[in-house]
Amino acid sequence: MVPETKEKSLNDHAPSELYRGVKILHDPVRNKGTAYTDAERDHLKLRGLLPPRVHSPAEQELRVLGNIRAKSTDLERYLYLVALQDRNETLFYRVVMHNIEEMMPLIYTPTVGKACQKFQHIFRTPRGFYVSLQDRGHIKEYMQNWPHKQVKIIVATDGERILGLGDLGADGMGIPIGKLALYTACAGIHPTHCMPVMIDVGTDNEALLNDPLYNGLECRRVRGDKYDELFAEFIEAAKEMFPGVLIQLEDFGNLNAFRLLEQYRDEVCLFDDDIQGTGAVAVSGIFGALQITGGKLSEQKILFLGAGEAGIGIADTFVAALAEQGVSAEQARKRCWFMDSQGLLVSARPSMAAHKKPYAHDHPRIDDLLEAVNTLKPTALLGLSGQPARFTKEVVVAMTAINERPIVFALSNPTSKAECTAEQAYTWSNGRAIFASGSPFDPVKLGNQTFVPGQGNNAYIFPGVGLGAIISGARTVTDEMFLVAAHSLANQVTEADLERGRVYPPLTDIRKVSARIARDVAQLVYDQGLTDKKRPDDILAEIHEYMYQPVYPHYA
Ligand code: NAD
Repeated sequence: MVPETKEKSLNDHAPSELYRGVKILHDPVRNKGTAYTDAERDHLKLRGLLPPRVHSPAEQELRVLGNIRAKSTDLERYLYLVALQDRNETLFYRVVMHNIEEMMPLIYTPTVGKACQKFQHIFRTPRGFYVSLQDRGHIKEYMQNWPHKQVKIIVATDGERILGLGDLGADGMGIPIGKLALYTACAGIHPTHCMPVMIDVGTDNEALLNDPLYNGLECRRVRGDKYDELFAEFIEAAKEMFPGVLIQLEDFGNLNAFRLLEQYRDEVCLFDDDIQGTGAVAVSGIFGALQITGGKLSEQKILFLGAGEAGIGIADTFVAALAEQGVSAEQARKRCWFMDSQGLLVSARPSMAAHKKPYAHDHPRIDDLLEAVNTLKPTALLGLSGQPARFTKEVVVAMTAINERPIVFALSNPTSKAECTAEQAYTWSNGRAIFASGSPFDPVKLGNQTFVPGQGNNAYIFPGVGLGAIISGARTVTDEMFLVAAHSLANQVTEADLERGRVYPPLTDIRKVSARIARDVAQLVYDQGLTDKKRPDDILAEIHEYMYQPVYPHYA
């Protein structure tokens, strides 16, 4: 059975008295602006409320693009787009989907980072659902206030680790909003099936606490039992209100991220994108890079800068990928080395978080990244530290001296936190580095060659995985689903992409890419009996039928 589609959900409501006249113009799901036809204007009592000329969606898109491009900063462009989303969702998604390479950096990283840092000052219309410590005992009751009853996916954050920008408290709400916009734009999840959630447990960000315009609770971050009870109540309420809902954890601090994932992954359909999604996108990038170098996965030695959710998530996925080739977890882990804020992760370190232990090896301590590169001689250097400019010229030169084609991925977000730029990586390595970054960089011209850096962003993975889980009615989200997604993504990289140094398909193909990832994920779900649904004859056809298209409904 196909989950409820856009057309169904809209036509169910259209056009009752409630949605005639000015009300329909103020309803972002049903608003068509100047695109209402003459017949619709009669039928919906819109005569006199709109200028006389009827515009086509293409003309409306042209106007929007003109406005966006006339703005002088990306933050202004973000604000314009958010306002458009609040007044005409269909047009918003049309513009985003038709211009994904231009719009994604505006609605997601890097601009969303700037927006979150100023959220309290740019706040206009509330979007998303807020759960705070004050709501204890009432979360389910308050969830009934949410206007859409068919929620299939929730992206939730507690704002503790927003991109690489740290604790932004309730202002982190921009992240779930942005991620869900990508779910719709990249994988066709209907906007009314999406619910952004901010779990406000306070903030330790002094500047926010001192800012009278801050929107969140004016208290320090609560931890321990109070935190756990609030989170448990949120999960329970979501499960009861929206049976089978998929919950994506996003930008939690790493102490909570790992333990909440372990605690809830078997209880609800839940995953942590920073751990599992990042793991899949980076390993897929390595698969792609090996198609360029001709190297074997089992011969790679990866040095990670940053041993948090993202770094460990990638290493775990890499270990799982090697397990498919018959390499034991113990052997595979020996190929992963970590540098974090305390230097090289070694077994002699007096104490360390549980998620780091499997990767702490017997080795003398090293504090300096360049020394670590020269000593360990990695084939790949992956940055997930949130520390900008840590891949210095000396580091990239050393990687190039060790490897004919060094893999250098500066994956920290936003752009301001990238470990090095695309231009630096290509220039310092004389064009030999295989480079990808978390936030986008422009192509780089070196001599007569143009290099197109891949964007190693989990936006390539989570929309497809989420769509696959939703379409198949998966009861749970497994690590294997992410490994399948990594293979699926890598299989969609073409020779032409690789020739330009790009280890991911172009973003312009993202809908097709996500649909295929969803098909492969759903296939696994059916094969492993992770659903009560019967396998359809043609999974891809079912996916295409479900996928939201930003097309106005007809009201007359
Ligand atoms: P985290 O807080 O869980 O981990 C950060 C890690 O960096 C920690 O191990 C910390 O010890 C280490 N670190 C801090 N300062 C350091 C220093 N000076 N030298 C070496 N290591 C240092 O955060 P995370 O979730 O792992 O995210 C890290 C970065 O990765 C962020 O910038 C985030 O935006 C980015 N990220 C990118 C993607 C993507 O799709 N490209 C996905 C997830 C996360």
